[in-house]
Amino acid sequence: MSDKIATTDVTPVGHHVPGGTEKQEMYAKRRHIYVREIKGFFQRLRRGSNWLLMLAYFLTPWLQWGDRPAIWFDLPGREFHIFAATFYPQEFMLLSWLLIICAFGLFFITVFAGRVWCGYTCPQSVWTFLFIWFEHRIEGSRNKRIKLDRQPTDLEKAWRKAAKHACWLVISLATGVTFVGYFTPIRELVIDLPTLNAHGWSYFWVGFFLVFTYLNAGWLREQVCIYMCPYARFQGVMFDADTLIVSYDAARGEPRGARKKTLSHEQARAAGHGDCIDCDLCVQVCPTGIDIRDGLQYECITCAACIDACDSVMDRMGYPRGLIRYTTENALEGRKSRILRPRLMGYLAALLVMIGAFAWALSDRLPLDVEVERQRNQLFQMTREGRISNVYTLMVRNLDSEDHVYRLNASGLPGLVLDTQSISVPGGQSRRTAVEITVDPEVIELPSHAIQLRLDAEDDDEISMEREIRFIGEIRR
Ligand code: SF4
Ligand code: SF4
Repeated sequence: MSDKIATTDVTPVGHHVPGGTEKQEMYAKRRHIYVREIKGFFQRLRRGSNWLLMLAYFLTPWLQWGDRPAIWFDLPGREFHIFAATFYPQEFMLLSWLLIICAFGLFFITVFAGRVWCGYTCPQSVWTFLFIWFEHRIEGSRNKRIKLDRQPTDLEKAWRKAAKHACWLVISLATGVTFVGYFTPIRELVIDLPTLNAHGWSYFWVGFFLVFTYLNAGWLREQVCIYMCPYARFQGVMFDADTLIVSYDAARGEPRGARKKTLSHEQARAAGHGDCIDCDLCVQVCPTGIDIRDGLQYECITCAACIDACDSVMDRMGYPRGLIRYTTENALEGRKSRILRPRLMGYLAALLVMIGAFAWALSDRLPLDVEVERQRNQLFQMTREGRISNVYTLMVRNLDSEDHVYRLNASGLPGLVLDTQSISVPGGQSRRTAVEITVDPEVIELPSHAIQLRLDAEDDDEISMEREIRFIGEIRR
């Protein structure tokens, strides 16, 4: 670091007309952001969470549960397997609960610590940071990247750019294949895709996510957060004066300015300097290209890169850390900050109630589902023995991980006889079967009777289900 630490340029929006005033553009031109890599506590935290999430995303479809993928959203089969449990579209309510829990979880975390979701866990940020990581490894540091972009294309520039885009495309392809792998068993998919045996929709969605990832993380980057993400727009209403935000301590930092590095903290203070040496490092590391010293801005994704950058500057200057830090508006203005406040507790209470209700719904969930349909082509028929026969199609879904044999019983009319006594269904699977029910015509008093069809698991008294069905017959006069 030089003896004097000076300000670097920030390209302004709009441009000067020679001999005239500045011409303002209708739309701000995008200034390419060359993000500077920085080390520090929060960046280690962020990288750790990023790698963890990415590993979870890429490895989960490869996990097996018995002879099927552990997580498998089988859309054609209309079955959603999550480890031991299998869910069906009829259980959509559970998914709704889960989405409501996620929404309240996000509200709670936003009221508590602002946009930490964006900085540490949002897929847009996670993939963008991964792309920037490759960019940095292939094209070099921020300054080298700026120089490379400004220089005319030569062999070195060409191979570095080609290598970077090739890496981005490989990650995007892996992202697309993995995404489709949640819906189609990935072990078969990775063989079927290159041998052109995969379903047409698989190629479409792999291609879609390849392009989507490549554009979003490689080209659009912070523009997705600033212009496209709806959460960025409404999260501001959840903030209050006690929400943890990344803030610059203007009272301590101003008046900012370059000074001799040899000046101690006390000497700098005595000379009228604030602690900000105006080095611009906090701006250079910011993935959304903002200057946190301008105050809280909706573009800030709370990634804390500026905190690590500024702390490293403070260390080098021998100043106390925390000129930029996680703090609250109240704390910054010298007021008492309350973490446990009614608003936060309200969101927490709502979240806990939702989680409790979801856990109860899950534990109370009967691991059996039965659909009964009458055979459509015939209302009833007479058997050779002179009995009235109705035929039904049963769809029995075993939602348990264990295999079960279900006993069938019918009641509601005297002397009902079933041609099928039991149905065996392996765990997590479903079975469709036709069942004939017959009755003596003498007992028929109405053209249509309500009868009950009951299924009981032979090995578990708690698993049983009853369905009311119509039995149609001819009245004997
Ligand atoms: S806030 Fe910190 S990192 Fe930013 S310009 Fe001032 S001293 Fe440098
Ligand atoms: S201002 Fe700081 S915390 Fe906010 S996005 Fe930029 S670097 Fe991250």
